[in-house]
Amino acid sequence: MVTGKPLFTAEQIQSRVRELADRISSDYGGKNLLAVGILRGAFMFYSDIVRMIRVPLSVDFIVASSYLKTSTTGEVKVHYDIREDIKDKDVLLIEDIVDSGITLNYIRERILARSPASLRICAFLDKRGRREVDVPLDYVGFQISNEYVVGYGLDYDNKFRNLPYISIFKKNR
Ligand code: 5GP
Repeated sequence: MVTGKPLFTAEQIQSRVRELADRISSDYGGKNLLAVGILRGAFMFYSDIVRMIRVPLSVDFIVASSYLKTSTTGEVKVHYDIREDIKDKDVLLIEDIVDSGITLNYIRERILARSPASLRICAFLDKRGRREVDVPLDYVGFQISNEYVVGYGLDYDNKFRNLPYISIFKKNR
């Protein structure tokens, strides 16, 4: 069940996303920006932030999921890969939440192997205390503690993604 009041309301989210988008807009002026969303979780954050970024950009997506999450060798499966030629593009990876860092680290290395002009990472939520693999985050919406959260694209069993706010989720016992 979704508990208590939202951890971040829709208004708090929109105002933080605007701050991130402003920083990205000033950092990427004159660059060849390709915004890559990591699906499915980042779909809502992605669509909000690209609408607030004020420099021209191209869009693309990667669909990935990880399992064996308790191990640092946890495997990541890519179900759909980036279609754009990313060589010489300034790639901005847009992720919903970073937990162990395994998923993002895998995707980051996969992109770096294709020689982009640059690669930066924007994550909406960061559970820094849970990190098993060190992955550099350039833009972070909010740091959170070790709670399982849903809403704003994030799911439990593919539910709750449509909530416009972030809530803590606890399983019914
Ligand atoms: P990592 O590879 O960093 O351990 O896991 C990242 C992925 O795990 C995220 O993209 C997300 O799909 C999922 N995840 C991690 N923490 C949470 C959480 O609190 N809530 C939800 N809904 N998904 C999470």
